[in-house]
Amino acid sequence: MAKNLLYLSKASLLLLIQLLATQSGSFTNAKRIPEFSKSLKDVEESQEGQRVQGLREVKHYLNKYGYLNYEDSNNFEEDEFDEALEVAIKTYQTFFHLKVTGKLDTDTIKKMSMPRCGVADIINGSLTHPQFSFFRGEPKWPYYKRHLQYAIVSSAIPNVNLTEVKKACSLAFGEWARFSDFRFEFTDYVGHAELILGFHRGEHGDGNAFDGPGGTLAHAFPPTNGRLHFDADEIWSDSSYRVRSNQVDLVGIAMHEIGHLLGLGHSRDELAIMFPGIAKGQFKRSLSFDDRDGLLTLYSC
Ligand SMILES: [Zn+2]
Ligand SMILES: [Zn+2]
Repeated sequence: MAKNLLYLSKASLLLLIQLLATQSGSFTNAKRIPEFSKSLKDVEESQEGQRVQGLREVKHYLNKYGYLNYEDSNNFEEDEFDEALEVAIKTYQTFFHLKVTGKLDTDTIKKMSMPRCGVADIINGSLTHPQFSFFRGEPKWPYYKRHLQYAIVSSAIPNVNLTEVKKACSLAFGEWARFSDFRFEFTDYVGHAELILGFHRGEHGDGNAFDGPGGTLAHAFPPTNGRLHFDADEIWSDSSYRVRSNQVDLVGIAMHEIGHLLGLGHSRDELAIMFPGIAKGQFKRSLSFDDRDGLLTLYSC
């Protein structure tokens, strides 16, 4: 099977993508995460000691991004504002430079409604570095792997065509290559690729279902997994230097997710590519000092 994949021609690869895309049609009706921003309105201004319908959605959200964990998982299904939730909200507010109130105030609710990356912010249980972070165990590419090939394999068709996707990925990889000794090269041969990028919709087989437009935009896995997934339900921009107000910048998000592929976690620095949230229409396409410092720190030890 692996050998066959190695020699997939362009035409048969396209066929495979189309086939997967047809099958993924069934995902559209699959159970979606309920629209989180709606339940957020109900819990605005709630605080410890209260019981408000919708708080369980906030608990699931904070759990997904690494801020909250209960020994008894039944607590996730209760709309009780307990002490653990208050502590989690305080950590969330600290990460995003909000006023640390421990309440679900307007600024916190606003931040939670923003589109963002699907990877967790808190990976080692606490805020360790002041800005950049790594995954648990600090996984990275071994020293003899500095030339990485990437392929594009999707199970759903996005609003941008393959040529534009390739251009966007090339720009995004180019920026990381500029500040490191990594070299990245596109390949049509999936079997040759260390990195596999693609568009997917809803449940797509890795336990991290996408949620339709908004919310989670993309996610990627730490080294040396190599998988990077974009949510096919977003309205993506093309590779040109223009991002409309309803679009998500494909180049910028690709840069962010490539950071994960290289071993970087989320940064608290709002200027960093590795900051987890990005507003629609926002344009961020250059590595900050913090991003470069993070990569250098990870690969210099
Ligand atoms: Zn991320
Ligand atoms: Zn995925």
